[in-house]
Amino acid sequence: MAKFETPALPEIPVIPKLQPDIMSHSSPYVAKPEIQEPLGYPGELVDNWEQVAIEKLGELKGKYRSVQVFLDACVKCGACTDKCHYYLGTADPKNMPVARQDLLRSVYRRYYTLAGKWFPKLVGARDMTKEVLDEWYSYFYQCSECRRCSVFCPYGIDTAEIAMAAREVMGSLGQGQKYSNEIIGKVFKVGNNLGLPGPALADTLEGLEEDVEEDTGIKVRYPLDEKGAEVLLVSPSADFFAEPHVDGLIGYGKVFHQAGISWTLSSYASEGANFGLFIGSYENMRQVSYRVREAALELGVKRIVYGECGHAWRVAYSFLNTLAGPFDFLDPRYPVPQHICEVTYDLMKRGVLKFDKSANDDMVVTYHDSCNVARASRMGDTPGGQFTIPRELVKATCNHFVEMSPDTLYDATFCCGGGGGLLTDDLLELRVKGAMPRMQALKEVVENDGVTHLANICAICKSQFTKVFPYYKYGMDMIVGVHQLVSNAIVMDKQ
Ligand code: SF4
Ligand code: SF4
Repeated sequence: MAKFETPALPEIPVIPKLQPDIMSHSSPYVAKPEIQEPLGYPGELVDNWEQVAIEKLGELKGKYRSVQVFLDACVKCGACTDKCHYYLGTADPKNMPVARQDLLRSVYRRYYTLAGKWFPKLVGARDMTKEVLDEWYSYFYQCSECRRCSVFCPYGIDTAEIAMAAREVMGSLGQGQKYSNEIIGKVFKVGNNLGLPGPALADTLEGLEEDVEEDTGIKVRYPLDEKGAEVLLVSPSADFFAEPHVDGLIGYGKVFHQAGISWTLSSYASEGANFGLFIGSYENMRQVSYRVREAALELGVKRIVYGECGHAWRVAYSFLNTLAGPFDFLDPRYPVPQHICEVTYDLMKRGVLKFDKSANDDMVVTYHDSCNVARASRMGDTPGGQFTIPRELVKATCNHFVEMSPDTLYDATFCCGGGGGLLTDDLLELRVKGAMPRMQALKEVVENDGVTHLANICAICKSQFTKVFPYYKYGMDMIVGVHQLVSNAIVMDKQ
């Protein structure tokens, strides 16, 4: 266990007393040149980095009007100040969303507003200095881009988008984040963020087929690179090996098998994750998305379905068509893309799938809305489907389901604390502290309702909770994926 204090879980949510700069030491490792360069960034801090930073900021505010609107529109009403899990968990005032925005806003004002040019002190404008850059690197990597603050902002200011712009500026001047950029590089090189080559993936899937056959007596297939399959499944690569993720992949396979839908994974696009989002780089996001298009064309599939991964779904739902479309070669009867929960829900509604809820009777389950699904996407054809569809699946597969406090769910859900490119051990203290508000809500249902398991549909949430639960004295095996519940309860009667 690392050396920092795990926050105590209060009985009711509490707004902490300010502890200025308490998290100023928290900074992720900087990417080395060999990680930076394949992504189109300079290897290290360029000589004239101050100028590059100012110019890049100018470029981004022109390209993405939202960035400029968000930087101009804040009236300092304070509604967002107590809404960020990192502020609630760390007490550092720079983790208040408005203060985080101001780190960038102060530089924007200095160079791009008249008042900032002539009266910088009066309008809180600052020169671009090394001290400012260090602050950016620390605090813009203390934002998981979860968008909770934007739900409460009367102007809809999205701090996530400001953080993405700041990260893109930093990457462009040679100060990228090791964790996210290394992962993007691996996806370009090998197809997934684990660096798992095709033959190793084929072995893993073969092993999975044997395990499932041993368990169910049914030969469920986990196909790779199968031309002519109906569905291309794009899943987070964590699904290939780690628990509880792999239990979800087992579930997807059972759903397709029972419904008689042919499907395949692709060794070329074997990664749902798209960390281009986290670093604010639409170009890197486009390149990762494009692999999915290429794989779909190469394999001749008719549908693209995404597995349980929150930010992958955000990118897919919100950007896939723009970045890698048009997908006019796919079957127009299905949305592009589709979420695996939509597929399973639809099959359940049509009576194609049946569940035996008693298979999950050893669990009392609660459901955590993953922020990227909740606040940056939708699911199905009715508003709010991203909330109702996964819950309907949990209720259809479990007899015992309990909700956490509504203030912490749906579009007000708290981030797990590890999203937005922060799921790295160099940020463990931040992750543990940022998880506090979710842990507090969980504690209530554990103590009052006997909840034993927390279900969700995000690979990052699953990994983050597995890591931080022991800090809060909960077992790592409390985490389940929705398709793990589906996998346990699905009635398999087709050979
Ligand atoms: S987007 Fe999320 S993590 Fe970032 S400041 Fe807002 S609430 Fe905090
Ligand atoms: S809620 Fe919006 S307008 Fe108010 S301080 Fe926060 S960002 Fe500014």
